[in-house]
Amino acid sequence: HYNFCAGPAALPDAVLARAQREMLDFEGRGLSVMEMSHRSDEFAGIAHQAEACLRRLMGIPEQYRVLFLQGGASMQFAMLPMNLLGRGGRANFIQTGIWGKKALAEARHLGFDCHVAGESESNGHIEVPSRESLQVSDDAAYLHYTANETIGGLEFDYVPTLARADGADVPLVCDMSSSILSGPIDVTDFGVIYAGAQKNIGPAGLTLVIVREDLIGHALARTPTLFDYQALAEAESMVNTPPTYAWYLSGLVFDWLENEMGGLAAIDALNQRKADKLYRAIDDSDFYSNPIARHNRSRMNVPFVLADSALDKAFLSEAEAAGLLNLKGHRSVGGMRASLYNAVPEAAVDALIAFMHDFEQRKG
Ligand code: PLP
Repeated sequence: HYNFCAGPAALPDAVLARAQREMLDFEGRGLSVMEMSHRSDEFAGIAHQAEACLRRLMGIPEQYRVLFLQGGASMQFAMLPMNLLGRGGRANFIQTGIWGKKALAEARHLGFDCHVAGESESNGHIEVPSRESLQVSDDAAYLHYTANETIGGLEFDYVPTLARADGADVPLVCDMSSSILSGPIDVTDFGVIYAGAQKNIGPAGLTLVIVREDLIGHALARTPTLFDYQALAEAESMVNTPPTYAWYLSGLVFDWLENEMGGLAAIDALNQRKADKLYRAIDDSDFYSNPIARHNRSRMNVPFVLADSALDKAFLSEAEAAGLLNLKGHRSVGGMRASLYNAVPEAAVDALIAFMHDFEQRKG
């Protein structure tokens, strides 16, 4: 079976096999990682190894803190303005789909006045706004964007680093939930990078926040302790009990990426090949289509529709019978979506393309 779920998504077979071997008895200690105190030396070792491996993989410089939190990417929608607006200024947003819209809505819900620096709503979210068209406000405290919109399948092909009219740099805050670790990035382009784990990192329950040190320590006075980057960083993500098992499994995924997949440059090439193949199959047929501008097509989430939506049900049930799981599009958009995260092997894409071709031959 191949799992194309958008999240919680497929985990690498090698990671699941290792977790299974270690599940009941971690390194001969006679207990599961699930049963360890988060304050124990054993767990501290697991936690530090995971962070060190992630730092090597992504090239995270020393002046960034890595937080292993709960609450999901959605909780960052609230934590970000509370932590970053304590020194005044306005939150700026680029809006390219449903997740970016939720981030903006949450900041407004908390009473913050926000500025929209660019959007793709006017083109139906088929192309991200050009760099030249973006306009941050004179009082921009930070600029938030969603690198890859998981539902629409719309991905930035550039990093929107901007400066204010007065020349001040605007810290860039990126929701990388569905594209983190899909290829190399320059962490120093960003003030904050955050991601829910359940796509390219590990199991649900863990949220990764990578934050530049100078942005820590300026939270609004009313910020709850568990929302405060400074308190979390000082306690090494252990103000309270962290999601220990998800943290451990994510460490296994980082290790797999580094040692079995050859790091982010290698996985980048593989991801490009996987996505190119599937988009080519879609473009070569009149039976399937994807509306996104080519340079903004998501490599991780490939939505497509059938020319005749009356065939959707048959497509999904026959795909499932063929071992191709979770191809149903998001409930808000319908159609199909194949998520091609790191753990989805190229053979899965080949099998999907063969199935799509066969289905078209029979029903087209
Ligand atoms: N941001 C993006 C880009 C996502 O894809 C998702 C979930 O799919 C979220 C945020 C929300 O993540 P969570 O469920 O961890 O809050």
